[in-house]
Amino acid sequence: MSYVIPPAPIASVPVADSTDSFPVRRVYCVGRNYAAHAREMGADPERDPPFFFCKPADAVVAVAEGSTANVAYPSETANYQHEVELVVAIGKRGGNIAVGSANAHVWGYAVGFDMTRRDLQFALRDKGRPWELGKAFDQSAPITPIVPASRSGHPTAGRIWLSVNGELKQEGDIGDLIWSVPETIAHLSMYFELFPGDLIFTGTPEGVGPVVKGDIVNGGVEGAGLGELSIRIV
Ligand code: MN
Repeated sequence: MSYVIPPAPIASVPVADSTDSFPVRRVYCVGRNYAAHAREMGADPERDPPFFFCKPADAVVAVAEGSTANVAYPSETANYQHEVELVVAIGKRGGNIAVGSANAHVWGYAVGFDMTRRDLQFALRDKGRPWELGKAFDQSAPITPIVPASRSGHPTAGRIWLSVNGELKQEGDIGDLIWSVPETIAHLSMYFELFPGDLIFTGTPEGVGPVVKGDIVNGGVEGAGLGELSIRIV
């Protein structure tokens, strides 16, 4: 058997302090998972069940530790925005995972940016249409190398932040997630069986805003030994 066209390369993210890579199967994202960000999006941050959307695996931009990766300003938007998020890398298959056993499915953690065409996202949202044009475009998921949970532990608190050109724009604490990482895994796995290689972007704190060409965007999650993510908009 041979393919009639060359297969696309497997998307992957380096493992921190290693020559190994983590192959990406799917990218799941949680919407509105910090109360203050839900408010700034015009929503009531009551504890409704979490909701999810996806990005394609090849939307990932793997950024090496200590480097700044170029990310292209996307087409067809005039309001391209940053969202810094804790990212969970799944290492063990499971469906209907219990909250109490969810951490056993986590291979590691990283820091990611859920880059967003906000004008398109809002227009689609307001018409009840799918979010792909606003969320699932090329290069919409920059990410740091993945730190194995065997090194980071399973962080439940820690400052999450993002700056643009050195100016702090987003700041929160992953302890303020409306739905914790284990709860998010439990909910998501009710709808999709999770497999090794899945990434989950867990939501962003308040302070999202636009970026333009030339901006340098840095972000991190403190306390678990995760790297700092840095991109340049080109
Ligand atoms: Mn997000």
